[in-house]
Amino acid sequence: MYVLSYIYIKDNRNLKIVVLKFGGTSVADVPQIKKIALKIKEEVELGNKVIVVVSAMSGVTNNLIDLVKHTSDFPPYSEYDNVLSTGEQVTSALLAIALERLNLRTRSWLGWQIPIVTDNTYGKSVIEKIETDNISTSLEHNEVAVVSGFQGVSSENKITTLGRGGSDTTAVAMAAAFSADRCDIYTDVDGVYTTDPRIVKRAKKLDIITYEEMLELASQGAKVLQARSVALAMKYGVNLRVLSSFENLPGTSIIKEGNNMEKSEISGIAHSLNEAKITISGVPDKPGQAAEIFGSLAQFSINVDMIVQSSSINQKATDITFTIPETDLLTAEKTIKKIQKKIGFNKFTSETNVVKISVVGSAMRNQSGMANIMFKTLAKNQINIHVISTSEIKISVLISSDYYELAMRSLHSAFGLDI
Ligand code: ASP
Ligand code: MG
Repeated sequence: MYVLSYIYIKDNRNLKIVVLKFGGTSVADVPQIKKIALKIKEEVELGNKVIVVVSAMSGVTNNLIDLVKHTSDFPPYSEYDNVLSTGEQVTSALLAIALERLNLRTRSWLGWQIPIVTDNTYGKSVIEKIETDNISTSLEHNEVAVVSGFQGVSSENKITTLGRGGSDTTAVAMAAAFSADRCDIYTDVDGVYTTDPRIVKRAKKLDIITYEEMLELASQGAKVLQARSVALAMKYGVNLRVLSSFENLPGTSIIKEGNNMEKSEISGIAHSLNEAKITISGVPDKPGQAAEIFGSLAQFSINVDMIVQSSSINQKATDITFTIPETDLLTAEKTIKKIQKKIGFNKFTSETNVVKISVVGSAMRNQSGMANIMFKTLAKNQINIHVISTSEIKISVLISSDYYELAMRSLHSAFGLDI
């Protein structure tokens, strides 16, 4: 008994589980898939138990969406998810084949086979639980578990998907469920950058970033990780890294904020192009109007982001300006038109050539003057601010899309982030 439990503990200590996630560009074609198979083999040879999560080949999910759109304007949500999930089915099986060719034990897993159980909100399902028995048995048999990212199964026994970029969330959720030693997200950049290096040449790679900062950057438009995956990693303390699948570099570690981490500069600048601004003018200045407007948008799950309301001079009418994802604009316009009579506002206008720029950094908590630097820098460059919003560690401004690259470059420099 004693010996057995001793051996068990010892085994367990050596038995590191690692989750490796490969994004669309890392599985873009068969040569790439063969290449990452070699990387996975190295990890197995180190003695680790390996769970791999894969995305669809780059571009495939977009093509699948087009196929559905050409079939119907109003596809049943669950069938839409069923089509979209197929991209990951192909890559997980191809990768398992490539691993088998390298004499590794392996098998591929679809979401429902594990199962990864989600709620029934098709298209953006939330993971409710992950059954660990099947994969645990597979790992005990020294198999590499190759999991199709982005998908799960609902209580109605239908396939669900986790929203665009959802394979990151699958990977982090698997790492949490299996108490993995680490969760490595392999992608086409070598880590998290201070801002988009395609726009700001002087952007630099960060060695570390806190969960909170990463969550804000991802929520504000940085595409390197799905925001939900970061929130999940923060909740379960998952040891998360972003690194390149093409180069052997250390990447960026996402870590807990420590006491000794007071930095003087901000960590990053994000931009989001998927923004639309709506202004409703002449809204009668009385209680309940904002509730009416935003309540009607919430019915269609439209996420309202930045909001400003002007104070009325004569206490008769106000203007309300807010932003929503550009992709929801048509629905929002229809909804607002419907409530015009009931509320009795004058008119509404919408604009899509706007971009949201956000500066993010935990340092903001303890330092004043960050907003001042931001506004002064924009003013110096003659960039007009439409809307402002803030959180504890973030300041966002909405500006005309004509100036967003200039804004990003000048802010990057003003906050001392240039290499
Ligand atoms: N294939 C899905 C997408 O393109 C999920 C992912 O890649 O993470 O959004
Ligand atoms: Mg992604």
